[in-house]
Amino acid sequence: MARIVHSSPQVKGILAYEPEELVGRKFVSLMSHADDSPQDAAVFAQQRIQQKETIENLVCSFYDRKQRIHYLELNAEPYFDDQGNYLGYHGVARNLPAHANLESTLHNLADGFSAQTGRKFFRSLVTHLADLFHVDYALVGEFTGERQDMVNIIVVQSRGEISENFCYPIKGTPCEEVYNGQLSCYDRNVQNRFPNDPMLPEMHATSYLGAPLYDSNGKIIGLMAVIHSKPFAHITYIQSIFRLYVARAASELERQQMVQNLERLAHQDDLTGLYNRNLFLSLLEQSIARARRNKEQIGLIFLDLDHFKDINDTLGHEAGDRVLTLIAKRLKDTVREEDAVARIGGDEFMVLLEQLKDEGDCRRVAEKIITAMSQPIRVDLHDLHVTTSLGISVHPNDGNDASTLMKNADIALYRAKSNGRNTYQLYSADMGKSLQKKLNLESELRRAVSEGEFELFYQTKFDLSRNRTYGVEALLRWNHPHKGRISPDKFIYLLEETGAIVSVGDWVLQTALTQIQSYNSNVAQSLNLSVNISAKQLREPDFLTKLDLALSNSGFDPNRLELEITESVLIEEGDHITELLNQIKERGIRLALDDFGTGYSSLLYLRRFPIDSIKIDKSFIRCIKDSDDDQVVVKTLIELARALRLGVVAEGVETQAQLDTLKQIGCLHIQGYYFSKPVPFPELPV
Ligand code: C2E
Ligand code: MG
Ligand code: MG
Repeated sequence: MARIVHSSPQVKGILAYEPEELVGRKFVSLMSHADDSPQDAAVFAQQRIQQKETIENLVCSFYDRKQRIHYLELNAEPYFDDQGNYLGYHGVARNLPAHANLESTLHNLADGFSAQTGRKFFRSLVTHLADLFHVDYALVGEFTGERQDMVNIIVVQSRGEISENFCYPIKGTPCEEVYNGQLSCYDRNVQNRFPNDPMLPEMHATSYLGAPLYDSNGKIIGLMAVIHSKPFAHITYIQSIFRLYVARAASELERQQMVQNLERLAHQDDLTGLYNRNLFLSLLEQSIARARRNKEQIGLIFLDLDHFKDINDTLGHEAGDRVLTLIAKRLKDTVREEDAVARIGGDEFMVLLEQLKDEGDCRRVAEKIITAMSQPIRVDLHDLHVTTSLGISVHPNDGNDASTLMKNADIALYRAKSNGRNTYQLYSADMGKSLQKKLNLESELRRAVSEGEFELFYQTKFDLSRNRTYGVEALLRWNHPHKGRISPDKFIYLLEETGAIVSVGDWVLQTALTQIQSYNSNVAQSLNLSVNISAKQLREPDFLTKLDLALSNSGFDPNRLELEITESVLIEEGDHITELLNQIKERGIRLALDDFGTGYSSLLYLRRFPIDSIKIDKSFIRCIKDSDDDQVVVKTLIELARALRLGVVAEGVETQAQLDTLKQIGCLHIQGYYFSKPVPFPELPV
């Protein structure tokens, strides 16, 4: 064991010992052991001394008197007497340049960039490392868990330049060793060791030092490395310092990943756990940028549940939420794991499909989704049949940025809805125009409601048996300031869609009752009044209250009032509608089923509801003369209706011939242009 026999006075300047204090001490006791690995300088020095070999340019860490560490470069050789007997070692230990000593490094770590966080931190770190070690490259990367075969280089400093955020396959590279938890240290010839790493030759790499970054649970989350085109000069010294930076980098990376995780959570849709709109948007933007670079196609599917509001309205919001959760899960299970799925709002979802081969890929996914969705959903003992409509846009054909792609998928979705729902549509340029029209109309309708641009027309109903007009139907008209009078077929569906039908419907009821009340008070023969009521109105919890209010405000006799509803109301609403209809009937008001024959219900089915009469749709009347079949249908309808004690009105009677046939088969209540077109209130015949 080598003990010190003499040291020069300069030792005081470095290690703060008086030279004579050191005499007799074991040489290696002055050295700090970083670890026991063969690369450790103290271990190495000890071995050399034992084997009486020369020590050249070995960087070792020494304790000074106050136990602070200093890095010294050691050159020593054994010496012998003339007979060749070993006497001991002599040598010199030189101080390394001031900036390279540990203390200044620690200072740097503590003050310099440690206060920084996130990207800034890593940028400063690699710049600092490259400077400190005089190496060509310094980098920090992360293993994300999503791709085990890749490292995401967060930042690399290469010969003074910073690049950020790119992925690198780790197979056959020193990174792979690091990923497996090893310190990867090659002070020379690294390319020979990793012949399949394409980056090393590109970087002219000769030496490499990389270490894993562990999180506080001991999981490897990243790596830090320095790479140089020449052999590392002071490998042990570099390693020791490197270790300190590794610890600091690891804790910063862990902190950063935690923040990202939190952000991700904040980006989740609470109800379904899917991505929310904001996160999806940024994913979409990233994906578009990637697709542009790699000349790939991506598909965006916009999904909307059909008639979801009905579920909410009839079964309540809790049931609605459960349906959404189940649907979300189903959707996620239907697409590939790597496809991003988001809830964009309410009952709207989006799916992002990357690396498409062609449009066909989108179609297949769309069909899979539609099939998956069509399975019944069990909620509170109800088997619900929820269907979806899908609109699809494809990058780059249908848009080069996220908002255009989303807008066009929405347009395609709208087309899918108008094509009868439960289907999908791929976007095409001509779809945009018709949607624009709809949007304009929608905003104009909002104005119409606030500006009072609506008016009621009245069409008379004729009783053939008594040969007189017995009632009128109130029909809505929109007096557009530029386009003139617009018929309800062009806008009622929009009022329904936007929900504006409720307030407009209130207005209709109130106005019609008031007008016909004033009409009736001026004539001998009072008229009955029919008002069309939409399903949406009936669903309003205060419908009856508003009905009563309109009756009492106008003073109209409820026995002269008839509400026209459609079959869809009965079918969609199920049981609880019967209760409501009964309450309407209790007031003496009558109920008519409008457009009969166009829907799907049979007359027998109608027995379950307190209906007074049916209105046979004008499509049957129109061809009554031409086709025996229709004549038979109408005749059967009338007979059945009579058997069920229902009244029958024929709508859309335009000709004498139609009238004759109807008379012949016993339908005596007639509405149609033959007697009168709908007219404004002042033109009602007195
Ligand atoms: P509807 O309730 O079946 O009304 C009868 C429709 O047939 C009216 O069309 C009427 O003008 C038309 N019509 C009557 N006789 C003839 C005829 O001889 N030949 C032809 N070709 N048509 C005839 P309009 O006024 O365009 O109304 C269309 C639909 O809009 C109505 O069908 C009704 O479903 C809805 N609607 C109208 N006003 C209201 C309203 O105030 N509230 C609600 N919810 N819906 C309304
Ligand atoms: Mg009607
Ligand atoms: Mg009708």
